[in-house]
Amino acid sequence: MNYQQILENIYQEIQPYAQVGKQADYIPALAKVNPDQFGICINTVQGETFMLGDATTSFSIQSISKVFLLAMCLSIEGDGLWRRVGKEPSGTAFNSLIQLEVEKGTPRNPFINAGAIVLTDILLKHSKHPKEDFLRFVRRLSGNNSISYDEEVAQSEREKSYLNAAIANLLKYHHNIENDIEEVLYFYFLQCSIGMDCYDLSKAFLPFANHRRPFEYGEISLTSSQVKRINAIMQTCGFYDEAGEFSYLVGLPGKSGVGGGIAAIHPLRYSVAVWSPRLNQKGNSVMGIKALELLTTETQESIF
Ligand code: GLU
Repeated sequence: MNYQQILENIYQEIQPYAQVGKQADYIPALAKVNPDQFGICINTVQGETFMLGDATTSFSIQSISKVFLLAMCLSIEGDGLWRRVGKEPSGTAFNSLIQLEVEKGTPRNPFINAGAIVLTDILLKHSKHPKEDFLRFVRRLSGNNSISYDEEVAQSEREKSYLNAAIANLLKYHHNIENDIEEVLYFYFLQCSIGMDCYDLSKAFLPFANHRRPFEYGEISLTSSQVKRINAIMQTCGFYDEAGEFSYLVGLPGKSGVGGGIAAIHPLRYSVAVWSPRLNQKGNSVMGIKALELLTTETQESIF
């Protein structure tokens, strides 16, 4: 498959969307990013790389970090995890409180904020050096030791953390957080603040595409069945209240973040990361979704 040519075609075809949407500004540091950027990178399981545009410009991965968090917690806690968080699509916004109140503090899934805040609490319980462990895992997955937290982004989110603080308080009220709320939230913001480029991100998702290879990164290891199940949750819950639409248009498991990034995988073929900061109403990258829709359409390859 000539992915490079396909990426170049896609780049031309998405130009009409270049000014559509608006970058996230509820985290003040994200409002400073130049919205007119676009990068994409594919890494195949055979070891080829194809990229285009701003594929080596670092951006804030935000909620894409929730996939790494789930992988760590599943490795550490196993199925016990599912006592504290569900695996059903939420159909609501990433930071919604309504469902959490009705369902008495059990988040629908690990890829909405409430679910990731519970998983952050689990990691804090199990690890003596959770921040170092999390970063080490992401560095190992991507093979890039210079990946770091962006403290400015994390601090900026902390200063405006009203909704996430409300979520954490509701979780604590329902005894689904054990640690100090402030500590849990700041570690959660740090995970979201990690800066990666499309190349790094695509590399970091390759192990999720390649579930036949052993998933072993330091002390974090998953069975092939666990990797496939993470993909299942990406498919059903990876795009907030737009998971159905993404599945319909693109047909790949993936995860988006409000920094404008999307990482997706085609099992046993490739991982792809795309980034463009302008978001639609649901908080997903406009050009990112369009590019991935065109990718699976033009290659005629999706999981369906
Ligand atoms: N740090 C963001 C928040 O908690 C992540 C949201 C996202 O990327 O979906 O609001």
